[in-house]
Amino acid sequence: RGTVVLAATPIGNVGDASARLVALLADSDIVAAEDTRRLYDLANRLGVHVSGRVVAYHDHNERGKADALLDQVSAGACVTVVSDAGMPTINDPGMAIVRRAIERGLPVTCAPGPSAVLDALAISGLPTDRFCYEGFLPRKHSERMQHLRMLQSERRTIVFYETPHRIAESMDDLLEGFGPNRMMALCRELTKDYEQVRRGTIATVRESVRNDPPRGEMVLVIGGASDDEAQAAAPSTLSVEDLAVL
Ligand code: SAM
Repeated sequence: RGTVVLAATPIGNVGDASARLVALLADSDIVAAEDTRRLYDLANRLGVHVSGRVVAYHDHNERGKADALLDQVSAGACVTVVSDAGMPTINDPGMAIVRRAIERGLPVTCAPGPSAVLDALAISGLPTDRFCYEGFLPRKHSERMQHLRMLQSERRTIVFYETPHRIAESMDDLLEGFGPNRMMALCRELTKDYEQVRRGTIATVRESVRNDPPRGEMVLVIGGASDDEAQAAAPSTLSVEDLAVL
């Protein structure tokens, strides 16, 4: 029976490739890859020969290509979807084919593995029992501030993806939005040789970013709002007593 398989790929350390990923790359009828050159590079490093057809499947063509790939799934093919790194659909292509497969009643499954969100969260030292993933912050300062203000009363640990060229501005905005004292972790180059985690308050991590600008890929993990912060930030709500008067 045909299936769509979302397969996670390493986010830095090739040793994180699962045995299942290796088998899928070797045996799938079709591998839909965000960047076909990167796929072949990964396959080479894993010593896998990709026997099936390889097609480019990226942000710009994923809607158009989903149905053609799913026609192959209907006909019995196994279509493996991989992105450049980590889990497809997590700030990466993949969602269009998942949605269309669900609409068409075709099976979708996942070969789980590395994803920067969970790696960073797990080593951040911040509460992991409840968290929210916020992807990349908006590029423009005004939109970023608006977004951060919306998150001021969020009690769960918050995870953002960030890029080296925006990190300094984002740290300024995080300080303005959340204040200096919340705990956070800046996790960079996860699973790679130069993996580094800078933990501290927003103020101290901001200082460290100014003094020693971090390079490479990074994830920011921010502690959630305390009771006081959440109350101060929340729009005033009516108490039970107020409601009784009304
Ligand atoms: N699909 C990927 C995943 O599951 O993590 C995310 C893809 S997104 C386009 C790329 C972003 O993920 C980077 O800008 C960075 O924020 C984060 N990222 C990916 N690999 C990372 C790594 N090794 N260390 C730190 N952050 C990483």
